[in-house]
Amino acid sequence: MKIIDSIYINGEFVKPQGNQVFDLISPTTNKQIGQVVLGNEHDARTAIAAAKEAFKTFSQTAKAERIEYLKRMREAVSRRKDELVDVMVEEYGGTLQFCRMSMEFTLSGFTAAIATLEKFDFTKKMGFSEVQLTPLGVVGIIIPWNASNGFIAGKLATAVAAGCTAVIKPSEMSALQTQLMAECLHEAGLPAGVFNIVNGLGETVGAEISTHPDVAKISFTGSSTVGKIIAREASATLKRYTLELGGKSPNILLGDADFSKAIPTAIAAAFMNSGQACVAATRLLVPESRLEEAKELIQTMLPLFPVGDPKEETTAIGPMVSQKQYERVQGYIKLGIEEGASVLTGGLGHPEGLENGNFVKPTVFYNVDNKMRIAQEEIFGPVLSIITYKDEAEAVEIANDTIYGLQAYVSSANTERARRVASQINAGRVLVNGLNHDPEAPFGGFKQSGIGREFGIYGLEAYLEPKALIG
Ligand code: NAP
Ligand code: MG
Repeated sequence: MKIIDSIYINGEFVKPQGNQVFDLISPTTNKQIGQVVLGNEHDARTAIAAAKEAFKTFSQTAKAERIEYLKRMREAVSRRKDELVDVMVEEYGGTLQFCRMSMEFTLSGFTAAIATLEKFDFTKKMGFSEVQLTPLGVVGIIIPWNASNGFIAGKLATAVAAGCTAVIKPSEMSALQTQLMAECLHEAGLPAGVFNIVNGLGETVGAEISTHPDVAKISFTGSSTVGKIIAREASATLKRYTLELGGKSPNILLGDADFSKAIPTAIAAAFMNSGQACVAATRLLVPESRLEEAKELIQTMLPLFPVGDPKEETTAIGPMVSQKQYERVQGYIKLGIEEGASVLTGGLGHPEGLENGNFVKPTVFYNVDNKMRIAQEEIFGPVLSIITYKDEAEAVEIANDTIYGLQAYVSSANTERARRVASQINAGRVLVNGLNHDPEAPFGGFKQSGIGREFGIYGLEAYLEPKALIG
């Protein structure tokens, strides 16, 4: 059993003042694997003070120096890549396949920040004035459990690129993953106080960060509910914020799409990260005339996405992160049945032989109306709804009939047609004919999927304040 009893403040691992203990439970076996001692408000304040002090000098560093730090961070994380993957599989229950991909995504956070920074000019000429883009100050980074170290990398790399300093509050459920990440980042040898990591609860450490007057900006990833709380709290001191929230992504298969490719891609997009992904393509929009074909192909291809022990090479869908998350997903499967949707595969309960962990049967519903709650609310588990449409216009209408707008997917034999449909969808990213990620393209949501963008130039500018020197 591993005990995490330190937090990282001002370049050192220190004992937190908080003494509340949180048990770390394996999602695969529901046995205890560790314990974390949580920090409290005092710890958050100490970390903020360290970041504030470090900002005085770090904000003055040259771009070349910060590029060097980012390279060292990337190297330090890369050196312990395999351990980072293993701890993610163990603590979070992510599949080996997914955690390896997530690790590449984590590293790309640094690589992309370096690439953006190399091209970025911190002074611009506008009118007859000089506009200086200056770092905002101390940034509070508050993140969820579903790709914890990836979020730390992406957000911290951008903060460092901008010349900001940071206080990070991860999910307490990711304590083992955070500890290893903190050790890597410590190795990179940044000046003390540039980044600080405080384990603790949202309502204590998170709340302190989102209200403290010395925090200039919050970069948050998590649920829309908590995002709204943070926006309210942050407004008292007019903090800037970037909010990356929930999603209910539509995946439109156009009438001419090659289903032998589009259906396995649709399953992968729906069940990625065991369905615990904000960008999961959970609404599959198929032409009415091709519904039977879609259903048959899903049934044939689902065995290619086995549920099971996340440590196994072949497993595609692992357990839900916690018992609570398991119950939540069960609640939605029950709701779908009550709402009158038909179960194509899956349903309530554990898959056979996997009763000890938080495993869910990958569930596909059809006869789903887009107005049903299973089609409107984020489930965050392997549950897919098939919704039929009559023509392209109706497909776009259904796709946009949601409070969310984080990501969408379109498939067609004709890429031009797919792009034309893609440009009518209200979402921050639309993936055309496949599952691509571009770490330099903006990421973020329309509507209640969030405010602001991460990655690339938009991501970097969100950590900077323009100052015009006139005359
Ligand atoms: P969550 O409940 O919103 O929590 C996210 C983080 O906020 C956690 O660290 C949490 O602390 C903290 N928090 C809770 N209450 C707070 C408060 N009052 N003040 C400040 N911080 C507070 O989300 P989750 O259940 O961990 O993660 C799942 C959600 O994240 C889903 O809705 C998903 O869509 C979203 N998500 C979005 C993206 C995106 O990029 N758009 C990516 C991944 C996930 P605790 O440790 O106490 O919980
Ligand atoms: Mg939570």
